Amino acid sequence: MKPFLSLHSIEKRYNNHLALQLDELEFEPQHIYSLVGPNGCGKSTLLQIVALLLKPTFGQMIFEGEKVIWKKKSLQRLRQHITLVHQSPYLFGGSVRHNIAYGLKMRGIHSKEQHSLIHESLEMVGLEGFGRRTARELSGGEQQRVAIARALVLRPKLLLLDEPISNMDRASIEAFDGLLPILVDQGMTIIQATHSPDQPERLHSTIIRMEDGRLI
Ligand code: ADP
Repeated sequence: MKPFLSLHSIEKRYNNHLALQLDELEFEPQHIYSLVGPNGCGKSTLLQIVALLLKPTFGQMIFEGEKVIWKKKSLQRLRQHITLVHQSPYLFGGSVRHNIAYGLKMRGIHSKEQHSLIHESLEMVGLEGFGRRTARELSGGEQQRVAIARALVLRPKLLLLDEPISNMDRASIEAFDGLLPILVDQGMTIIQATHSPDQPERLHSTIIRMEDGRLI
């Protein structure tokens, strides 16, 4: 079976600092991957490259059999299938519903359909009934879950999560752990960066250990 996503000789330099240097890395579809390693080892850099938000200095990526070309049109098309949830997500002022609707509006989804999609995605992250709440007034963990709902509503094939549970309380983490396998069953591939010592195994994820920008 062809990999869902593969990286070949990827390097990322910030000025002269070599932040990432990977020979080969492959991701299978419908699977959970956990990037694990100390601060500064390159996890976020890798996630941003895979999200097609940061161009590597060198190397090649193949997404669903298609070589990634770093040109606007091609990136725009591929980005429709990939969503990155940042560690400290930026939520817009206004309601939770407004935050989640944003991407749907951008895609021209009719408001009637928006309603049920928003409801469904809030339910998935355990925030049913939160639609009218002011997003920025929620707790850190709740905001994180709104950001995940905002990503899920777009039904990406590849969901990228940067330290998703770092601000969550125990109940939220349990809900989150229950959600990921459901997303995988629905066809998603998930790559998360995490500091949690036990969560990657709890999720039966494939652990990718990193140090100084390299795989170990
Ligand atoms: P992690 O997510 O594992 O903490 P990062 O990918 O954020 O690691 O960082 C990898 C390395 O790249 C670190 O040495 C970091 O200081 C450096 N780095 C990250 N982003 C930038 C940037 N925008 N400019 C310069 N250096 C950066």
